Amino acid sequence: AGPSVPVGQAASNKPPRKPAVFIPVDRSPEIQEARLKLPILAEEQIIMEAISENPIVIICGETGSGKTTQVPQFLYEAGYASSNGAIGITEPRRVAAVSMSQRVAKEMNLSDREVSYQIRYEGNVTDETQIKFMTDGVLLKEIQKDFLLSKYKVVIIDEAHERSMYTDILIGLLSRIVPLREKKGLPLKLIVMSATLRVEDFTDNSRLFSVTPPVVQVDARQFPVTVHFNKKTPLDDYSGECFRKVCKIHRMLPPGGILVFLTGQAEVHSLCRRLRKAFPFQKNNAAGGDDNKEESVEEIRKFKKSRKRKKVMALPKIDLDNYSVVPVDEGDEDRDAETDDDIAGSDIDLDLGDGDSEEDEKSDSSLPLYVLPLYSLLAPEKQAKVFRAPPPGTRLCVVATNVAETSLTIPGIKYVVDCGKVKKRFYDRITGVSSFRVTWISQASANQRAGRAGRTEPGHCYRLYSSAVFMDFEKFSAPEITKRPVEDLILQMKALNIEKVINFPFPTPPPTEALAAAEELLIALGALKEPPMMGRLTQQLAAKLSCPISPLGRIMATFPVAPRYAKMLALSRQHDCLPYTITIVSAMTVRELFEEFDRPAVSEEETAKLKGKKARLLQMQRIWAGQGPMQMLGDLMVMLGAVGACEYAGCTRKFCEENGLRYKAMLEIRRLRGQLTTAVNSVCTDAGLYVDPKMKPPTETQATYLRQIVLAGLGDHVARRVQAEELLDDKWKNAYKTALLDDPVFIHPSSVLFKQLPEFVVYQEIVETTKLYMKGVSAVEPEWIPALLPPYCHFGKPLENPPPSYCPETGRIRCHRPSVFYRVSWQLPAVEV
Ligand code: ADP
Ligand code: MG
Repeated sequence: AGPSVPVGQAASNKPPRKPAVFIPVDRSPEIQEARLKLPILAEEQIIMEAISENPIVIICGETGSGKTTQVPQFLYEAGYASSNGAIGITEPRRVAAVSMSQRVAKEMNLSDREVSYQIRYEGNVTDETQIKFMTDGVLLKEIQKDFLLSKYKVVIIDEAHERSMYTDILIGLLSRIVPLREKKGLPLKLIVMSATLRVEDFTDNSRLFSVTPPVVQVDARQFPVTVHFNKKTPLDDYSGECFRKVCKIHRMLPPGGILVFLTGQAEVHSLCRRLRKAFPFQKNNAAGGDDNKEESVEEIRKFKKSRKRKKVMALPKIDLDNYSVVPVDEGDEDRDAETDDDIAGSDIDLDLGDGDSEEDEKSDSSLPLYVLPLYSLLAPEKQAKVFRAPPPGTRLCVVATNVAETSLTIPGIKYVVDCGKVKKRFYDRITGVSSFRVTWISQASANQRAGRAGRTEPGHCYRLYSSAVFMDFEKFSAPEITKRPVEDLILQMKALNIEKVINFPFPTPPPTEALAAAEELLIALGALKEPPMMGRLTQQLAAKLSCPISPLGRIMATFPVAPRYAKMLALSRQHDCLPYTITIVSAMTVRELFEEFDRPAVSEEETAKLKGKKARLLQMQRIWAGQGPMQMLGDLMVMLGAVGACEYAGCTRKFCEENGLRYKAMLEIRRLRGQLTTAVNSVCTDAGLYVDPKMKPPTETQATYLRQIVLAGLGDHVARRVQAEELLDDKWKNAYKTALLDDPVFIHPSSVLFKQLPEFVVYQEIVETTKLYMKGVSAVEPEWIPALLPPYCHFGKPLENPPPSYCPETGRIRCHRPSVFYRVSWQLPAVEV
């Protein structure tokens, strides 16, 4: 009952057909030789026939079989890019879009003018571009501009198995665009490429494609991989365990590259350092180049806060309707996802035993280890190093994050060390707030990682967890769209004039509850027009799920940040607040600006060092927080001050290290500020904004405007301090009530407002540790709330019978909790609407 149509057999009944067009490509002999070894070359004819005979084709093949690098070349040679149309390929990861475009250009002996990439605001696309790699978010934005994608003859959706949210939505949209193009007489070919797994979601889905597309299976040569499990229960210190495992492999096992899977950049770097120290290799440090050395160290000067205190008689007010910028479409989104696949095998016993922990860090091995880091944000030229042969007489060891799982295939890997973890974004169902957490991978992911060891010869995979733990892993990781809030997606879809999102042909639809929550938030933010009130609640829900976008929503949709932040940007044209809002939004989007010094130390010396650093950071934070009214902007003022001070000092690693800032975060904020500035300039052509490293602190008045702007964006994140008369018991001491949670929440101790306890605050996110803590806190004035957040307020007396709303999750009627806002409404006379 498989959905796959065996194209191979069907095609072999017909006489082989030569393509009508053949555009020659001048490849070097070495490239040509390497290409011929790729399994996909054997399938070229079948693939091209399937494409010529069908509007939609699915290609499945093991990672490394040559899909990403070769299929665009097949299409090019067959003339699909020759005139008035290009070949477009989407990738869920930026790193793949960039590195694959470079690789294909090199293989084809073409320049980056012809084989180009576009990621967010960065790219090298020209008029001559024939093959264009991009992130899936870029193509989604292009559909907003030109629904029929008329400049493409072929669109390839790569890495579809990753099930990134934008990939899913693109497949849904293209399932409609392809027949439309057919009708117009300008056929568009859609090719969906995936690792060999779970294609049923695409093929067995009558909502998606009216005719089941053929599936071409590329049989990859895969050598057996012996999997070795750890016997012990997994350790917390998986990074240390990785180190010991690599040491053992390097000392005891025959030549062959080692690939280590860790979860994040910081871990990757620290393991690289440890390994380089243990197996010194002179050229290594220069060659590895994971540390971005600063060229110039400017004088470090402090970002001075204006200290004038003045009496504010009447508080300035921002104007909610002032978002008069003209929408133009530009930009994109990007994110990382995670992956799956299948492989196993058996071989001679090379089990290294079970990580007996006390391992000498110094090695007696004479063979140098050539250690390279690999992760998404690494500069492309440094990433490219992993594809080159290691220096003669050394063993290659790549320490990577999940990017090495399916996006990039590293040659010559014989040993894989898998920590079994991945860093993933998690979304709280209640608060909708996301956080990065390290969790176990899926079985499919583990098998995919193991498979990386068997590309060129039989290999070994060392799993740093027991087989019992492996059996507990989920089989596949769920599609991203089912796991996260979808307000940004819904906003993008509404910007495409898809009003009835609920009827959209999603490969896997998000839960109705998530759709409803997203629309509710977007209506509250003013991005969607409010639905007409219907008599029955279910109708009301249905009406909600087909709200059209508002003019404000169109502007918000052009900013590549979450809708809450986009609203802040849209309002910030007033009172010259844009540079500050851009900085705050960038900092909130990048998150985790400050180093974490509360980690356990290994020695007394280190404890003292960490303590000193923490004290220094706290001192700086107090300076960055400013004085007087500025202080009320709280943690967001600290972010603003920190970014300002860092940029003023030239954004050097030295400055960051001395002041407890995360250097990588600061570089990312700088990049995002640039992107958002471009986005704002594109919708607001007379703004003439530029990123000013010497940005002055906001004035006190501006700081007040900024608090209002933040409130307008984070409307559903308001919290009110519990008053003495409401104290239910001790657990509510110093607690806040929020609109969404029953439990007490607290200001995080790291917040500059921790001791101040303002009556009303807005927060960026709630994190749960020992308690529920608000982070990114700003104080707001109660009288702003009804003015800026009418959808959340009930005017007049506190409501005894708050208006009910329908809860699609339970089918029951849910009450809005008036508890957060009643003090506001209570103090205020009814407002005329
Ligand atoms: P798939 O998309 O099926 O996973 P790819 O097309 O990405 O396969 O890779 C095919 C082959 O090309 C792999 O063996 C890989 O190692 C090689 N390759 C990809 N990029 C580069 C590069 N930048 N330099 C050298 N080899 C590369
Ligand atoms: Mg690929």
